[in-house]
Amino acid sequence: MLVEVQRSGLPVVVDEVPDEFVLQLAAEAEVKAREADRSKLRLALAWARRHVVDDVMRAAHWSDVDLRDVCEPIGGAGTPLVHEAAVAPLAAALRVSARTAMQLMSDALDIEHRLPRTRAGLESLRIAPWRARQIAVLTHGLSVEAAAYVDAQVAPIADTVGRTRIERLVNEAAARFDAQEQAAAEDAAKQAWGVRLDHYTGAVWAGTSRLEIIGDTPTLTKVYELLNKRAHQRFDPAKPGAEQPPLEHRKVAALGDIADGAGARSRTTLYLHLSPDDALGFVERLGAVTVETIRGWLRASRFTLQPVLDLSRTDAVDGYQPPAWMRELVILRDRTCVHPNCDKDARDCDLDHIEAYVEMDDGGPPAQTRPDNLAPLCRRHHRAKTHHGWTYRRNRDGSYTWTDPFGRIYDVPRP
Ligand SMILES: [Zn+2]
Repeated sequence: MLVEVQRSGLPVVVDEVPDEFVLQLAAEAEVKAREADRSKLRLALAWARRHVVDDVMRAAHWSDVDLRDVCEPIGGAGTPLVHEAAVAPLAAALRVSARTAMQLMSDALDIEHRLPRTRAGLESLRIAPWRARQIAVLTHGLSVEAAAYVDAQVAPIADTVGRTRIERLVNEAAARFDAQEQAAAEDAAKQAWGVRLDHYTGAVWAGTSRLEIIGDTPTLTKVYELLNKRAHQRFDPAKPGAEQPPLEHRKVAALGDIADGAGARSRTTLYLHLSPDDALGFVERLGAVTVETIRGWLRASRFTLQPVLDLSRTDAVDGYQPPAWMRELVILRDRTCVHPNCDKDARDCDLDHIEAYVEMDDGGPPAQTRPDNLAPLCRRHHRAKTHHGWTYRRNRDGSYTWTDPFGRIYDVPRP
């Protein structure tokens, strides 16, 4: 039995009401969701305003590392700078990553300072918060004047049009407003050029990866047409259609053919953890995969076997630097940065001495560098600990307990 509470506060048994009443409840649920999302934007704005700084060197910026020459503050032009230390507590409270929390503050600042009509639509809930945020994202790189122009064009119709149309309107308005903006947008788009390999295409890794290529339209169109041509050549006319791999799968195979033809050979190191009796293997950094799939890979590539590391080792060393085996152990044990909700891979993190290392010449005890006093921290969260008042400890069961600068406590379970 489904019981829903109406906005008036009265409960209603959903199974017993007519269709139109169910639709009424659904509409009310949408209003409640919009109100909740509007609250989050208002609170993110209030939080950002409590932590305004003048010094760009102390402001939060989009780079994960402490590159002081990369200063890209979180809000667009015309918005105030927000202190770097404001990011982690908000992210922890919302149980999201630092980037997600920064995006929320960025959108809230852009809507407040750059998009007055969108802001009015959001406040009256005429414009759904996700649409307002989308307009903020799409206008983020524009000048104050160009953003205001787009705001005036898009806000009146933003509640009735789809995502693609908003995108096109923003692009057109931006281009019409300022040809220089268009040139700048083309330069900015080039910043994204690159080829990236991503192994997480769904909630879990399942032997499938994504290769993303961003580049100039003529080159990519040429590559795409070649893949299509080769994929069609892989169609075997002697076989019935039902036995042929689907076209999209043949495109992937065609890409492999092209790589083989160019003399490609995989040098990738995959750390496979296999037990003799299991139907599943475990690939480090990626996840579980069937032994059947691993067999297919082994037929296609050469692999280097690594000796197994004893994860229960506890011995310590006196120096600051952990030896290679200890580093490997901590990385395999914790897998990611151990700050709440951070998924930066441990291999890209620094190993932090949980209890600060003191040189033995300065009276420090021996054996300070040992597995249970080391944890991987990404640059951002290393700074949160070193400069912004976060503390943590490693518990006996391998979990971590963090305390933010305001005394709020977060548990991070072992992976
Ligand atoms: Zn982190």
